[in-house]
Amino acid sequence: MNPPSFVAGRSRPKQGLGWLQHPLFNKGTAFTEAERDRLGLRGLLPPRVFTLEEQVVRVLTNFRKRPNDLERYVYLMGLQDRNETLFYRVLMEHLAEMLPIVYTPTVGRACQEYGSIFRRPRGLYVSAQDRGRVPRLLRHWPHREVRVIVVTDGERILGLGDLGAQGMGIPVGKLSLYTACGGVHPQHCLPVTLDVGTENPTLLENPLYTGLKQRRVRGAAYDELVDEFVGAVQKAFRRALIQFEDFGNVNAFRLLKRYQNRVCAFNDDIQGTGAVTLAGIYSALRITGRPLQEQTMLFLGAGEAGIGIGDLISAALEDQGLSPEAARRRCWFVDSKGLVVRGRRDLAEHKLPYAHEHPGCPDLLSAIAALKPSVLIGVSGVPQSFPQPVLAAMAQLQQRPIILALSNPTSKAECTAQDAYTWTQGRAIYASGSPFPPVNFEGRTLVPGQGNNAYIFPGVGLGVMACAARHVTDSMFFRAAKTLAGQVRESDLDQGRIYPALERMAEVSAAIATAVAEEAYALGLARAARPEDLAGSIRAQMYQPVYPIWA
Ligand code: NAD
Repeated sequence: MNPPSFVAGRSRPKQGLGWLQHPLFNKGTAFTEAERDRLGLRGLLPPRVFTLEEQVVRVLTNFRKRPNDLERYVYLMGLQDRNETLFYRVLMEHLAEMLPIVYTPTVGRACQEYGSIFRRPRGLYVSAQDRGRVPRLLRHWPHREVRVIVVTDGERILGLGDLGAQGMGIPVGKLSLYTACGGVHPQHCLPVTLDVGTENPTLLENPLYTGLKQRRVRGAAYDELVDEFVGAVQKAFRRALIQFEDFGNVNAFRLLKRYQNRVCAFNDDIQGTGAVTLAGIYSALRITGRPLQEQTMLFLGAGEAGIGIGDLISAALEDQGLSPEAARRRCWFVDSKGLVVRGRRDLAEHKLPYAHEHPGCPDLLSAIAALKPSVLIGVSGVPQSFPQPVLAAMAQLQQRPIILALSNPTSKAECTAQDAYTWTQGRAIYASGSPFPPVNFEGRTLVPGQGNNAYIFPGVGLGVMACAARHVTDSMFFRAAKTLAGQVRESDLDQGRIYPALERMAEVSAAIATAVAEEAYALGLARAARPEDLAGSIRAQMYQPVYPIWA
């Protein structure tokens, strides 16, 4: 494989040790005899030359020896810092084993502990003190070919709340999935944290906290910093896609509205979650044999994830001919104060489209009794909020209740896979946000799906990059959801699994990317010329973790 031109170009290390210290160029013990002579490495490495495959075995052996998942996370991050090719080879070949470490649930724990596990910086920090000099900070980033930026302000990390600057683990983790699942070259990826302070008292008191020790900046000063950042990105990395990630919902909806049609940007918690969940529902309906128009969806939690899912389901129903009002009426929300209905005076703006005319219900169980939902979706961040009575009520109403317990990390899930199957006599069609192992229920093995956004955003990003889309539209996420659902095989459904096997992630992402790029071309939003074979050209662009021969 030839290295991309920007890797082969001027940023190459000088002779000797530099080659071992740069994660992009380093091959460790796999530098060949000829490379050792050419690059001045002879003597700096143990004499035996290993293959990449042999190195993978060494990494896996060490990885599996670590005493816990946080240690495994630290080990993998160390590998990413030393040798990116080897890191991605391991990640891509063992995705099901590695995903819960580089992403939810372990990444959540890693963010909480970021101050104490900190080894080397990764990503770009833009703090409230950098107002006026953000363009300069972007110039400090060593790679000029940035195509995807994942940015957080750390206010709502998974379901763990405000982790301030320690939220950096999320953009780092998501971008490693862009590469491992979507084949985006690591050098095209830039993780960013906007450090505007934190409201988390534990972090503010922690001597090892890595961020600004101050309360969050809000209002005009916050907006100006975000605006300066977005503007600077447009100048420094003209075609970069910006993915907003894990912002608190006061800012998430606002920022999406402000930038969605101005730059190339989306919010994964709103739009990505919408797409992965809609795809799961489409697959579940292949099992029940009922159409989407007949479903009643009840959500616990009316934040970014809930409203994002509601909006995409409504779009899907409108596509089938329902009016916007009739479509939204299929979706009902319960928040911390009970059922969201027209008569309530305490509703945030993003909930209003789903405040239907209906008597109030104080809690989830009474809402289930009143609305008789067929799909129950947990996006509240409240652990165990689908207890036995809730699951039993769903099982009484439906032959195959669809239960999606999406809150992350695992400790926040509304119910476990085991509970969902036990309290519905094995009839639930279940998926969660963080992974649960297969469950043996009365002699049958039931495989819970993982409604992981990683099924969606890498493919969307790859598609947007491939056609150089100007904007990211809701219709692209709709296309992504349909494509993902189309990738689920009958053999998956037979096991109760409503998402494809993780091992097929690259193939799934390529299909999603093609659908997204098709949509961009259809909407006239693509800046790149359309290749004759769009799918083939996208597949050809995907990163493969193999060592180049350094000449
Ligand atoms: P958010 O803060 O925007 O929304 C949380 C919502 O839950 C709010 O509407 C809040 O009022 C409501 N809530 C809080 N306590 C409640 C209670 N006791 N009863 C009912 N509702 C309550 O957060 P979000 O971005 O919507 O994320 C929510 C959860 O969903 C998080 O745990 C997140 O990790 C998870 N999530 C999962 C996926 C996925 O699995 N693919 C994707 C995105 C988010």
